[in-house]
Amino acid sequence: MALDLSQHPCFSPAAAQHAARVHLPVAAKCNIGCRYCNRQHDCINESRPGVSSTLLTPHQSLYYLERLVAETPQIRVVGIAGPGEAFATPEDSLLTLRLVRQHYPDMLLCVASNGLALAPHVAALAELQVSHVTITVNAVDPGVGARIYAWARPGKHVLRGEAAARELYERQMEALSACVGAGILVKVNTVVVPGINDRHAVEVARTVAGLGASYHNCIPLYPAPGSEFAELPSPAPADMAAIRREAGAFLPQMRHCGRCRADAAGLLGESMPERVLGLLREAAGSPPVPLARRPCVAVASHEGLLVNQHLGEADRFWVFGQDGNPLALAGVRPAPAAGGGHQRWLDLAAQLQDCRAILVSGAGPTPREVLAQQGLQVIVTEGLVEEQLLALHLGQPIRRKCEPAACGAGCRGSGTGCG
Ligand code: SF4
Ligand code: SF4
Repeated sequence: MALDLSQHPCFSPAAAQHAARVHLPVAAKCNIGCRYCNRQHDCINESRPGVSSTLLTPHQSLYYLERLVAETPQIRVVGIAGPGEAFATPEDSLLTLRLVRQHYPDMLLCVASNGLALAPHVAALAELQVSHVTITVNAVDPGVGARIYAWARPGKHVLRGEAAARELYERQMEALSACVGAGILVKVNTVVVPGINDRHAVEVARTVAGLGASYHNCIPLYPAPGSEFAELPSPAPADMAAIRREAGAFLPQMRHCGRCRADAAGLLGESMPERVLGLLREAAGSPPVPLARRPCVAVASHEGLLVNQHLGEADRFWVFGQDGNPLALAGVRPAPAAGGGHQRWLDLAAQLQDCRAILVSGAGPTPREVLAQQGLQVIVTEGLVEEQLLALHLGQPIRRKCEPAACGAGCRGSGTGCG
């Protein structure tokens, strides 16, 4: 489906008049230390990136989105913008985007990133038709960057000083080029810090324009309480205007940024209505995979009384949870035919869209992973179906089966996995 790229309110001042966006706060962690950041300081009246009143799991965020879109139909863009870094926990971010894309094929998807760990995920973003990416680039000179970033953790080890800033810069440029190469529009944000990079922001614009960025957003420093830069002044409006004028020689400048929160929803510049906050809080308080979205549980069983079939050998699944009763049979559904690899498990997930878990006597790692990505928890157990369903319903521990060490040892398969 062709997406209407003109409807992104951040990339188009005209769209900002009528097109709303929502940020899903699923990114809890970060992999760099910006000296202007303090994500601990949360206030619902405060509007700035990095602040969110709550965190959501990917499935909670879809549950929230469905309810939000029902009451705010002008939502055109779904983005991830923190409160940490989207690619510090890429599994959560990508699953969130995947769920949104599955349910809203014509929605614009957007991600904001510091760029440190973005490049390896650009192909996945392109596959999900993520059309807009924002990378925050505050310096293209490691000497300047070292004064803005306290550290960076590109892998297992933490870098500091110029080594951190250089690594970050190189990875940002790699990610920017990869996005442009994949046809994704890139906006670059630059936080302007007086006395540190205010005279450098134009150089940032020149560099990123050369790599194909389409838009530049110079954001005046917000001296966040508790951050290292808490005592620095915000740049004067006249200085910001001059920087934007000069940087505008290289890239179109964004002048309508709302410095949005990581859980912002609605039109740019509008504060979040209390009813939307209520939806957000309710989603955050629901189970990681909300019951309302997935009320049922599927069981691999020969006769529907015992959990006694391996995931890969079941030719049908018993689905329980009709009308909110965890023990009421909702139906018996055929399993997709064996073979077909990855697609077989995607087809099964589609068959069981109303289920949050599958009880099986055994399962290989690949289907578990694929099904988990689709929101279906595979639970390896044994014994009476009724007992296990009740335990799951009441949030009690499920009796976990002691699993065989090798594939093929617990089922009638060939030992080559559940493909
Ligand atoms: Fe804070 Fe974002 Fe910087 Fe991470 S990248 S330290 S969340 S401002
Ligand atoms: Fe758009 Fe600025 Fe809000 Fe980010 S902070 S979503 S760039 S308006």
